[in-house]
Amino acid sequence: MKKVIIYILTFMCVIFILPSICTKRQDLSVSYAETEEAENTVQEEEETPKYEYSKYATIKLYHTKTSEVEELSLDEYLYGVVSSEMPANFEKEALKAQAVVARTYTLYQIINSNGKHGEAGICDDSACCQAWISKEDRIAKWDANEAEANWEKIVNAVDSTQGQIITYNGEPIDAFFHSNSGGVTETAANVWGGTNYPYLQSVETSGEDEYSQYNSEVEISKEKLIEKLKQKHSDISINFDEQDCIKIIDYTESGRVKTMKFGNIEIAGTEVRSLLGLKSTNFSFEITENSIKFFVIGYGHGVGMSQTGADSMAKARKKF
Ligand SMILES: [Zn+2]
Repeated sequence: MKKVIIYILTFMCVIFILPSICTKRQDLSVSYAETEEAENTVQEEEETPKYEYSKYATIKLYHTKTSEVEELSLDEYLYGVVSSEMPANFEKEALKAQAVVARTYTLYQIINSNGKHGEAGICDDSACCQAWISKEDRIAKWDANEAEANWEKIVNAVDSTQGQIITYNGEPIDAFFHSNSGGVTETAANVWGGTNYPYLQSVETSGEDEYSQYNSEVEISKEKLIEKLKQKHSDISINFDEQDCIKIIDYTESGRVKTMKFGNIEIAGTEVRSLLGLKSTNFSFEITENSIKFFVIGYGHGVGMSQTGADSMAKARKKF
């Protein structure tokens, strides 16, 4: 069997690789001409941007704690976002992907915020916009012996992707990201309702199980469970002696919990996640004598770019 594989590989090498090495010089000049031509064609066909990028060289950032508005360059702002949203020990190409996503998200927010933050275009709260940290605070949080190198890595990720954003129909996309998809990302409608974005589809990822964010468990007493569910559903009652008193009713296409039954009520998986503090809606559960144990896969809403997925791809030598 091995011999056959070696034979096939050698054969492919002779057929494809050797001729390309021999004709490389020629190919180069031809492809240069072709590239020039192709570039012209692409320029004609390319979607015309419906925004003016140079307008966003400086941005106004609303600081939620102090209610102050700070004006700073877009790149400087992005250093603070990337260093806040992704661990600096992630691969260079993953950090670059995060920089492009953060830049795209920023423009989208500024263009579509409709005065949500007064004169500012974006805020520093991760629950509202995206997290941001000043260079001073960031450096202070890192180990002194790696702080400088970490900061340089972040600056490089932003600078080397300068001006690059993701567009759809000529406009910046609503660029979502999350920590760990658990192996497959989620469509936006399954998390926030409404219609799906054509560019935010569910895709499979790889290598996510190698990260600490992949697995988590939450154990909650029966009493506490009812207490938490009562915050939103005052009429809830669960008879724990009953078979299927707690049950997963259905799943989304990506395998996350869509609807769940607790006694006399049915609630969305996304609500279970927020009420019980689960890391994602991809979970199973087990009822024990006094409690309910949730076994959770992945971390975050699952829409858009998975950060650990990006890091895993970068480790496999994929570019941003
Ligand atoms: Zn905000």
